[in-house]
Amino acid sequence: MKSDVTIIGGGILGTSLAYFLSQITSSKVLVLDQSPQVGFHTSSRNTGKVHAPFLYDPEKKKLFAKAAKAGFEMWETYSKQKNLQFKKDGVLEVALDEPGIKRLEKYMSWGEQNGLQKDEIILLDGTEVKKQEPEVVCQKAIYCKKDASVDYGVLTKYIMEDAKQNGATFLLDTRAESIQDRKDFLEIKTNNGVIQTSFLINAAGGMSIDLAHQMGVRTDLTDIHFRGEYWQAEPEYRHLTKTSVYSVPKHPEYPFLDPHWIVRSDGRCEVGPNAVPVFSPYGYTISENVRKMPSKILEMLSSGAAKMLFDSQFLSLASGEILSSLSKTVMINRVREFLPKVDPKKFKHRGTAGIRSSIIDKSGKFVTDAVVTSGERSFHILNYNSPGATGALPFAVYIISQMKNKGLVKVEKDQCGPWSFGKISELLVL
Ligand SMILES: Cc1cc2nc3c(=O)[nH]c(=O)nc-3n(C[C@H](O)[C@H](O)[C@H](O)COP(=O)(O)OP(=O)(O)OC[C@H]3O[C@@H](n4cnc5c(N)ncnc54)[C@H](O)[C@@H]3O)c2cc1C
Repeated sequence: MKSDVTIIGGGILGTSLAYFLSQITSSKVLVLDQSPQVGFHTSSRNTGKVHAPFLYDPEKKKLFAKAAKAGFEMWETYSKQKNLQFKKDGVLEVALDEPGIKRLEKYMSWGEQNGLQKDEIILLDGTEVKKQEPEVVCQKAIYCKKDASVDYGVLTKYIMEDAKQNGATFLLDTRAESIQDRKDFLEIKTNNGVIQTSFLINAAGGMSIDLAHQMGVRTDLTDIHFRGEYWQAEPEYRHLTKTSVYSVPKHPEYPFLDPHWIVRSDGRCEVGPNAVPVFSPYGYTISENVRKMPSKILEMLSSGAAKMLFDSQFLSLASGEILSSLSKTVMINRVREFLPKVDPKKFKHRGTAGIRSSIIDKSGKFVTDAVVTSGERSFHILNYNSPGATGALPFAVYIISQMKNKGLVKVEKDQCGPWSFGKISELLVL
């Protein structure tokens, strides 16, 4: 099989790339995914929030912040067009102590810098919070109106259908196993045969760093995987709060967020996610983790991730996360700090866990923003973590505009769906 552009990964990002490329270029676009459906992994296994950009440092998370700002409006428009759920339910970010309040003040200023309007993000004291959400206990909170709940798995499927109608091909159950540079084209060996492509986009989520390494790209980086687990609340909790409630992370330099109280787009409530270190981007089960443990530990020891193994703060936080994986009560109690009414006994079933793969640099530090890097015939998107689903549509436009600027793709049309390619790409200029 031959294609002009092959995208490895049919998650929300790869599918969004196919959606735009198939509309504004005449390139033959092919998407490969090893799974039976698009959006099968992280893109369907998340909290389902369309995040307002107040949580993102405009300097250290520039790309994520800009994409989240643009993504909110784009998903709202798209959901309206397709008659899909886009529940503008807002979010409460609560602080329980003085350092937390300081962080909220920082978030207020980031929100403004990232383009939120003054009436979209409000700082409340504990009494004002009580009026709005009587069950919530905190010292202060940010209420952000501009936050919504969706089902990203469903959105990914709709985006795929549009891309297919515009001529993109999706090969599912097809795993890219190796990539060879044949001078004039790349040859991708898969379990379903060989593909020749002029250009490759690596949007493989938790496998993206491995694919990049196979092609000799960014071998200075590595990753660590964290499983985010959820517990489902019994239906009687459905009206406990009107909005989802997040607490300020105590250690924002690490990817350990405290579990949230989540109200999903269909009204179901959950507690989660924690962040349990695992050995594979698909480490949902013990057997997968045992299988991948030896190779992952060896890889970690020969990279910047080795420093994490000797970072006492990281190890102590990680062991807390493991404990909250083993004990439901420990996990639910983390939410009880701000929502005292929740009782661990009312959580009988686990929710669907999702895995985030965080990139670590040579010095052993977590990389904060998404990393976009190119090889001669390839583009690689690494560290595409939260709020990646929120920003997927504008981020895809950003990647295509980078390709256009490098002469790798010819954009022949400005109109793409309800948007102008030119206008959206301007929103993500750094
Ligand atoms: C617990 C959790 C909660 C989150 N909550 C939110 C939220 O509320 N809001 C938000 O905006 N973001 C959230 N995120 C982040 C968001 O879900 C991700 O940023 C986004 O889904 C990443 O999309 P993706 O397409 O890059 O990756 P993925 O969805 O992982 O897609 C990558 C695809 O590549 C395929 N693949 C990999 N290797 C190969 C190969 N060799 N051959 C073929 N196919 C391959 C995989 O099968 C997979 O389908 C959350 C993430 C987690 C883990």
